[in-house]
Amino acid sequence: MTTIAFIGLGNMGNPMAANLVKAGHQVQGYDLVTDNLTTAKENGVTIMANAAAAVKGADVVVTMLPAGKHVISVYGDVVAKAAKGTLFIDSSTIDVDSARKAHAIAAEHGMLSIDAPVSGGTAGAAAGSLTFMAGGSDKAFARAEPILEPMAGRVVHCGGDGAGQAAKICNNMILGISMIGVSEAFVLAEKLGLSHQALFDVASTSSGQCWSITSYCPVPGPVPASPANKEYKPGFAAALMLKDLRLAQEAAASAGAVTPMGAEAAQLYALFNARGHGGDDFSGIINFLRGDKG
Ligand code: NAD
Repeated sequence: MTTIAFIGLGNMGNPMAANLVKAGHQVQGYDLVTDNLTTAKENGVTIMANAAAAVKGADVVVTMLPAGKHVISVYGDVVAKAAKGTLFIDSSTIDVDSARKAHAIAAEHGMLSIDAPVSGGTAGAAAGSLTFMAGGSDKAFARAEPILEPMAGRVVHCGGDGAGQAAKICNNMILGISMIGVSEAFVLAEKLGLSHQALFDVASTSSGQCWSITSYCPVPGPVPASPANKEYKPGFAAALMLKDLRLAQEAAASAGAVTPMGAEAAQLYALFNARGHGGDDFSGIINFLRGDKG
């Protein structure tokens, strides 16, 4: 049994913390929102008065927070209060520069740290089947792997500090671009009198094949489990896709990478969000491209 502080018990953090409890760990949790603390308590998490109290006596600290500024602020509050050698795991999706800054704060105080953002959404968090993309030293990763295991389907060590966040935003940039490409093809097919099923049957087994068509087809019918069959209820909300595409653009600007398709995808998802569809699944962008919704 390990004592784990869990800070940020929202839509993702709460089911993740629950899986750590189920695995037999002592979990000390903190969140700013009372309702989230109530849920955590029902799941067997010991509720602490604040983040600093949560890290007291903890061997591992997991954070699952909205953005880089929250992670830096919480690290600023708690890292110095943890015992030397404590392992810090940040699973929030944040910008690469903040992730590296968080590692630096941890290292400065003699802690081990990894950035370990996830994919798999709230369903994966509840099922304990998230994919973790980890960045950090071999030593930190070796200690983190068994802690992540009850929450994970797969854990990939992507490289040094910030490499997990880099992998996450590169992957999601591919996803945003490919969903727009697949959606455009279905809209063009409609105009050309080609059925959805016919395009699916060809493209899902030909050179146009990709996850956005085979597993997450943006029109109802060909892939029964895709959100298109449930009026585009998420799934993966368009607001979160926009967040990740913006992080990719920030990283591209910071690193001097040329990403014109990523920039265009960020722009299209910004328009889709601005018209009130941030809560729709990101595959709903097809309706926006077709001109049906806004
Ligand atoms: P959320 O808003 O539901 O949860 C974040 C929690 O952090 C909130 O409960 C908030 O009160 C808490 N918080 C903020 N500042 C705090 C502080 N100083 N101290 C303690 N708690 C604080 O968001 P979420 O959906 O759980 O997402 C968390 C992270 O995971 C985000 O970075 C998101 O991009 C990423 N993510 C989300 C999904 C998803 O499907 N929801 C999928 C993959 C990755």
